[in-house]
Amino acid sequence: MPVDPNTQNKMRELMAVAKRAFDVRLQTGTGGNISIRLQRNDRVVIKPSGVGFAECSEHNLLVVDLEGHILDGDAKPSKDMPFHLGIYRVRPEVNGIVHVHSPWATAWAAAGHEIPAVTIQARSKLGRIPLIPVGPDGGNQTPESIIEAFRDATLWAALLESHGSVSVGKNLLAAEHLAELVEETAHIAAVARALKAG
Ligand SMILES: [Zn+2]
Repeated sequence: MPVDPNTQNKMRELMAVAKRAFDVRLQTGTGGNISIRLQRNDRVVIKPSGVGFAECSEHNLLVVDLEGHILDGDAKPSKDMPFHLGIYRVRPEVNGIVHVHSPWATAWAAAGHEIPAVTIQARSKLGRIPLIPVGPDGGNQTPESIIEAFRDATLWAALLESHGSVSVGKNLLAAEHLAELVEETAHIAAVARALKAG
């Protein structure tokens, strides 16, 4: 199926933002996930499983509807796809989602602590970053638990225990900027805590 110009533009937007996330080391390897909503609200472009942020291309990205039916692409859908689609279903104003395993934020998540909003910019731009517990089997969070947290229209970022972060935005670049702020805040909070203890 030939990709229409609007879809192609959104794919290119996703590729540029994914490359930025890779370049600033928010995500290495093939982990994490990133998606963008098309202007027609019922469709989403999403990175498939096993593809790195720096390797996203018009040939491997998937186009899906909000129920997860694949409309274009033949790569394997990510296990993260259900929570991305669920957030789009419950938050009509959200048009981009970035999920990464960035190391400083994930260190707080692995320790089972929320990231303290220790800076003025974190308090004003993020507010609280809630910690969503691991799933019932001790593994990945259930999509339902992540979607439930993001039903709160004031929530723009959350931490997944022992896993990583999820940031959302009115556009994809805004979501990625927030993921950078979460990582930066996690780094600053860890160093500030060590300095105070010293
Ligand atoms: Zn993940």
